[in-house]
Amino acid sequence: MRNINRRKFLSISALAGASAVVPQMTGSKYAMAAPVDDADKKIVTRVLGKTGMEIPILSMGVMRADNPAVVRAAYNSGLTHFDTAHGYQNGKNEEMLGVFFKDKDRNTFTIATKGKANLKSDNFEQDYEELLNTSLRRLQMDYVDIFYAHAIGNTGEVNNPRLIKMLKKFKDEGKIKHIGFSTHAHKPAQIDEAIATGIYEVCLVSYNFKLDILPELDAAIQRGVDAGMGFVAMKSMAGGVADADATSKINGAACLRWVWQNKNITTAIPGFTSFDLLDNCLEAAHSPKLGEWDIKYLAGLKEKELLYCQNCGNCVKECSKHLPVPDIMRAYMYNYGYKYPSLSKDTLTELAIASNACSGCKKCTVTHCSSGFNVAAKIAAITPIVNVPSHFLA
Ligand code: SF4
Ligand code: SF4
Repeated sequence: MRNINRRKFLSISALAGASAVVPQMTGSKYAMAAPVDDADKKIVTRVLGKTGMEIPILSMGVMRADNPAVVRAAYNSGLTHFDTAHGYQNGKNEEMLGVFFKDKDRNTFTIATKGKANLKSDNFEQDYEELLNTSLRRLQMDYVDIFYAHAIGNTGEVNNPRLIKMLKKFKDEGKIKHIGFSTHAHKPAQIDEAIATGIYEVCLVSYNFKLDILPELDAAIQRGVDAGMGFVAMKSMAGGVADADATSKINGAACLRWVWQNKNITTAIPGFTSFDLLDNCLEAAHSPKLGEWDIKYLAGLKEKELLYCQNCGNCVKECSKHLPVPDIMRAYMYNYGYKYPSLSKDTLTELAIASNACSGCKKCTVTHCSSGFNVAAKIAAITPIVNVPSHFLA
C-alpha cells in the first residue's frame, strides 16, 4: 500500500470507528410528542402520479437511521412516507421499521422498499422473489406501497423483460401496490424508456441544485408526469456537505426548498439520522417557499466542487481500465459526505472493486470530469475500505 493509501486507509478506519459510536439520543420537541393535529404544523401534500398516493412533500429516507426514536419523531411530526431498501444496514433498517410500525394503523403511513435485480444470474427470478419475501418478513407487512427496482444503471435494465415480468407478478400477487425504479445515471433516457414500458408508476430520481443536465431532466420528468408517473427526489442535498473536504454541512432546508419548487416532484426523502437534522427538514417543510437567501446560498455552491457526481459518464469512456468511476464516486460520497462507511464498502464490494483499483495505471486519463474531481485521488482514498472488516464499520 502506498503512503497516501495507508494514510487514507487509517482515516477511513478512524472515521468508521467514530461513526460506530452511539445513535443520537438528544431530546427533540418532536420525539415524545403526540401526532400532529395543529393545522399550522401540517405539511403540504402532493399526489404521486397515477398511484393516487397523497403524501407530504417531506418524507423520511430511513437509509442510515438506526434510532427508532427518530422514526417516531418523524411520524409524530406529520411525515407519512418512509423509504428503505432491502440492503440498508444488512436488513436491520427494514427490521427497525417493522418493529416501529407493527402497532400503527396501516392507513397512516406508506412504505417504499427497493431490491437490486441481479439480471446476470440464472436464478434471478427465484432470488428476486426471495428478496421481496424477506423484506416483507422484516417489515412485518403483507405488502409495501412502492417497490423500486433499485439503482437501475441503464435503459437495458429498466426495460428488461425478466425484470418487468417479476415486477408485474409481485403486483398481481398483492405484495406491492405500485411499481417503481430508482436511478442515478442516464436519467432522462431511463425515464423515457420507463414510460415506454407502461408499467412503472414511480421514479425515485437523484435531483438537486447541482445537476448540470437539469433542463433535459426536467423535460423528461414532465413527460413522465404527463404519462401518469410520480417522481420522488433523492440526493436532494448533493452529498450533504458544503465543500469538497466535507468540513461543513450543507444547509439542507435551502436544498429541499429548491427541490420543491418543481411541482412535478411529489416528495423528497432526505436521509436524516438525528433530531436536529429532522428539525432542519421540518423547518423547510413548514416554510417551503424558496427565498432570496436560499437562492443566493445555492448559487454560491453551484460553482463549487462538492461530493456529488453528475453521472455524466465522461470518466467511464476516458478511464483506461473502464472502471465504474461514478459508482466509486458515490461510494466516496457515502463515506465522506454521509459518514456511512458500511454502505460505501457494500457499494464497492457489490461491484467487485479492488482496494487498489487503479494500480498499474501510470497516468490518469480521466481529464473531463464534470464535477471537477481528481478521480484517481478519490479512488485511492476510498477503495481501501473494502479491506476493513465490516464489524468496524457503521
Ligand atoms: S488512474 Fe484509475 S481512474 Fe484514472 S485512468 Fe487509471 S484506472 Fe482509470
Ligand atoms: S466524469 Fe466526474 S461527474 Fe462525470 S460521471 Fe465521472 S466522476 Fe461523475
